[in-house]
Amino acid sequence: MNVLAVTASRKNADRHIVVVGAGPGGLTAAMILAHRGFRVTVVERAGRVGGRSACLQAGPYAFDTGPTFLHQKFTLEEMFQEAGRNLDEELDLVQLDPMTRLKWGETSIDTTSDSGRMAAEIERVFPGESEGFGRFMADHEEKIRLLIPCLRCSYSNLRDLFRKRLLSAFPYVATKESVFSLLGNYFRDERLRLAFTFQSKYLGMSPWKCPALFSILAFLEYRFGIHHVQGGVSRISEKMAEIAEQEGAEIRLNSCVQEVLSQGWETSGVLLESGEIIKADAVVLNADYGYAVTQLLNGHNMSEDKVRRKGFSCSTFMLYLGLDTLYEDEPHHQILFADDYRRNVNEIQEERTVSEDMSIYVRNSSVTDPLVAPEGHSNLYILVPTINTRHHVDWSGKRSAYRDKVLDRVEARTGMKDLRRHIVEERIITPQDWRDDGSIFMGATFNLKHTLNQLLYLRPHNRYGKFRNLYLTGGGTHPGSGLPTIYESARISSNLICEQFGSVYEPVDLTTPLLAEKP
Ligand SMILES: Cc1cc2nc3c(=O)[nH]c(=O)nc-3n(C[C@H](O)[C@H](O)[C@H](O)COP(=O)(O)OP(=O)(O)OC[C@H]3O[C@@H](n4cnc5c(N)ncnc54)[C@H](O)[C@@H]3O)c2cc1C
Repeated sequence: MNVLAVTASRKNADRHIVVVGAGPGGLTAAMILAHRGFRVTVVERAGRVGGRSACLQAGPYAFDTGPTFLHQKFTLEEMFQEAGRNLDEELDLVQLDPMTRLKWGETSIDTTSDSGRMAAEIERVFPGESEGFGRFMADHEEKIRLLIPCLRCSYSNLRDLFRKRLLSAFPYVATKESVFSLLGNYFRDERLRLAFTFQSKYLGMSPWKCPALFSILAFLEYRFGIHHVQGGVSRISEKMAEIAEQEGAEIRLNSCVQEVLSQGWETSGVLLESGEIIKADAVVLNADYGYAVTQLLNGHNMSEDKVRRKGFSCSTFMLYLGLDTLYEDEPHHQILFADDYRRNVNEIQEERTVSEDMSIYVRNSSVTDPLVAPEGHSNLYILVPTINTRHHVDWSGKRSAYRDKVLDRVEARTGMKDLRRHIVEERIITPQDWRDDGSIFMGATFNLKHTLNQLLYLRPHNRYGKFRNLYLTGGGTHPGSGLPTIYESARISSNLICEQFGSVYEPVDLTTPLLAEKP
């Protein structure tokens, strides 16, 4: 550390930052700010860290509650560097190859980030189409090079929209095209287009509505691969909490914030449900955006009606199954597309009908990871994208029958024919549970939609507009709701806090291998 940074670090120690929520966004901010010398206290309502990315333990089986894989590993590497750590020394990451098996009835394709093998796989299943794959990959090198820098900075001021980097990327951002229509430029077969557009579901959106700029999600996967973390993706959150504590942060579990306190345009700290007041020089809010701005900003809360007018992502129906067997021949990830996928996606988009012909994501991580279930057993994670709770569905009356339908489909369309016989532990989460138990506004698990009117300057700002010293981190602010963008939101907010207090810090080298060749 240079002299300037040491002096700044001493000065930062006089500043107290309270982080509300120990989800991926809150923990990244805590880790970075503590490393930069601030006094940091994280207050988390639950009894464990991680939020939607926490570990869900059911008997001897460990599940990831939400995220099941990491893409853009280089972003997480940078976050660990921001805290003075080396990611590969802290966690055991495994690149998944193949990445995902995609199934349409009897047709299936195994995706890989090995471009030669991917082209061959495309030719095997969709003869004549591999040329489009080559063009897609080549075109997106430039697109990603221009877009990634735009996702790294704050858009809290109107003038941020006129920076050179965004103006260069503008043609990619401003197009009204959807990812699905864009992929028509590369592939004739609709199923193949889906192999490059289903990633919009990571944002809780329909490929037919998701802005074309998000074709970068598929590119990032096919270019840089996806990773599993041994022990589960929740290990990332746990490791971040450990590092934040090593750097001096205090993490207080079972501490629910009732209110962010304010005087005029300043927040002065938080009031816990216990009645305790924690004073702060700045507050970082990681709780779900819609819930936080309607519930926690006493005197400044937005009305629920106003927030409901925004676009929210879909929700998910979840099954976590501890099995007394391991389906060794089933892949780590597979997606079973609905017979009429477009109709399924439209039903979710319109937010009224729970699809009977549903798409299902199945994750069988025990084929890769011995740490998540006893030997010879496995932990099966099943996710069904479904409608959020904007319109009423009685999930308590429906959940058991829906669970049976989902299992029927998994048994019929995978090699897990006798699945039910092997279930020894089972947990279910419905959209209603996400809303009521998880305090997730409208049960929209992937937060605000990523439509053009909810991006960049038009997405809730990292520095929350109503207060000078309240910052947001997580899926409900810029740049967006996947893990890498959530980590970026934490770095942006941390940098803004440093700016506010005139703190000097040593920026890390950005390692994004945008144009580098793969090893
Ligand atoms: C089922 C599912 C699957 C997903 N899969 C992926 C994936 O594979 N890859 C990917 O990149 N992303 C995925 N995501 C999206 C995203 O990465 C996760 O949802 C992520 O956990 C969101 O992080 P966050 O920082 O926004 O906050 P959250 O995880 O929502 O954490 C917020 C924290 O704030 C706490 N809190 C709330 N209110 C209070 C209060 N009043 N006082 C104190 N604490 C409070 C909560 O308890 C929680 O711990 C998935 C999400 C879900 C739900």
